[in-house]
Amino acid sequence: MKAVAADNTELQDCYDLLATIHDPEIPVLSILDLGIVRDVELLRPLQDEGHIRVTITATYTGCPAMDTIALLIKMALLTKGYKKVEIATTIAPAWTTDWMSAAGKEKLKTYGIAPPDKRFEIPADGIVCPQCGSSHTRLLSEFGSTACKSLLQCNDCAEPFDYFKCH
Ligand SMILES: [Zn+2]
Repeated sequence: MKAVAADNTELQDCYDLLATIHDPEIPVLSILDLGIVRDVELLRPLQDEGHIRVTITATYTGCPAMDTIALLIKMALLTKGYKKVEIATTIAPAWTTDWMSAAGKEKLKTYGIAPPDKRFEIPADGIVCPQCGSSHTRLLSEFGSTACKSLLQCNDCAEPFDYFKCH
């Protein structure tokens, strides 16, 4: 089914709404910052029953936050008045941390998590400490507070911090 020629304002409203939904594991990042929303199709506008389909991609297989995120999207759109909300999940192409927005990476750093950086491969060192900016850091544990992060420690300010691993 092809999306109706919906007026762009309504579609934009939906994106604005999605921008208010945050990753339960990293509350500072919206699902748009993460880049997991692949498509939003307005099949019937709000004044005509309202049918919408949102396609999301899993950040990695088995990420427990995905079910929560799908539920949050569904609830937000139902609350907005859509009668039918479909959440489609896609696994190909696979999500990569490259899809994370620049603003998202900046927010991560402010939050105290080192953003993913292709130049480094865990467990190599050189990842920049989000607290003091030092690159003298070392790996404490390959798995941090969640499986998609590693736990590092800064040799200069001694602060431990999470690093969002590249995928
Ligand atoms: Zn530091």
